[in-house]
Amino acid sequence: MVDRETWLKAGEQGFLCPWVDPKYGGLGVDFGYSVIMNEELVRAGSSGFALPLHNDICVPYIATFGSEEQKKRWLPGCVSGKLISALAMTEPNTGSDLAAIKTTALRDGDHYLLNGQKTFISNGILSDVVVVAAKTDPKSSHGGVS
Ligand SMILES: Cc1cc2nc3c(=O)[nH]c(=O)nc-3n(C[C@H](O)[C@H](O)[C@H](O)COP(=O)(O)OP(=O)(O)OC[C@H]3O[C@@H](n4cnc5c(N)ncnc54)[C@H](O)[C@@H]3O)c2cc1C
Repeated sequence: MVDRETWLKAGEQGFLCPWVDPKYGGLGVDFGYSVIMNEELVRAGSSGFALPLHNDICVPYIATFGSEEQKKRWLPGCVSGKLISALAMTEPNTGSDLAAIKTTALRDGDHYLLNGQKTFISNGILSDVVVVAAKTDPKSSHGGVS
């Protein structure tokens, strides 16, 4: 368990998602800064602080594929440490074979109904925003995963 204070301190220091566009609160720097962060975590012997996952895997999904509204809503908090992110792909019966996931996200008017189970999710217990792999077309295989 990494407490929230640590995330907030990392945010204050500019250690969270430094690549994010300054208009969403980031520093707008290149990937080299993420590499330095990851090297320094290893140098300090810290294997439990899933900052690289937040910085370089989860939040890039929002920055790359999110709508303008989603970016404005989530990115500033991900930079400050107020929002901790996670990526939920693995399920109790599905790991490597991601196309076999059972979780569904089905359209219901102007929203989606999300049903299923996830496991082994790093930052999961701490997270405020989660990128979830789900089948939006359960009849299709990998093509139906969103
Ligand atoms: C520390 C940690 C953190 C994690 N964090 C996350 C997370 O944040 N989000 C998330 O979604 N998941 C997370 N996971 C889960 C991780 O993604 C899965 O464990 C991984 O996808 C493997 O799935 P599995 O454990 O079901 O193993 P399996 O897929 O059942 O694989 C078991 C073994 O079979 C081998 N194998 C599988 N398929 C084949 C094949 N077709 N041919 C040959 N060999 C094969 C594998 O190499 C492995 O040795 C985390 C796991 C760990 C250990």
